Formats: sequence, structure tokens, C-alpha cells
Amino acid sequence: MEERAELPKPRFIFPPADVGDVMVEQLEFSLDHGEACTPGCLDCKRLATVRAALLRPFEGRLRK
Ligand SMILES: [Zn+2]
Repeated sequence: MEERAELPKPRFIFPPADVGDVMVEQLEFSLDHGEACTPGCLDCKRLATVRAALLRPFEGRLRK
């Protein structure tokens, strides 16, 4: 059986981003993206999904 050369391990110059930071950035993008919305906007759908999940404990107590 032929021995396969090992691939070089990937080296990261910068450490991977913090997941929490990425989530906050994505939420900020979703909240601010509205100026370019078209009917059926996928970012609006994504925001509605996230909003429903995050605000579930406060259902009925927040104004929309
Ligand atoms: Zn939108």
C-alpha cells in the first residue's frame, strides 16, 4: 500500500473570530439592512426568525 504524503496543516495567521462577536455582528446587520429590502427579502425572514426566538420569553409584553 502506497504511503500518502500528509497534507500541511492549515496555519491561521489570526485566531478564529469569537462566535458571540459574529452573532452580534450578524444581528446588527439584520437590524440595519432594511433600506434595500425588496418583497420576500431573505434577510427580513432571517431577522423575523431570530427575533421570534430571542424574544420568546417576552411574548405579548413587547410592542412590535
Ligand atoms: Zn429585508
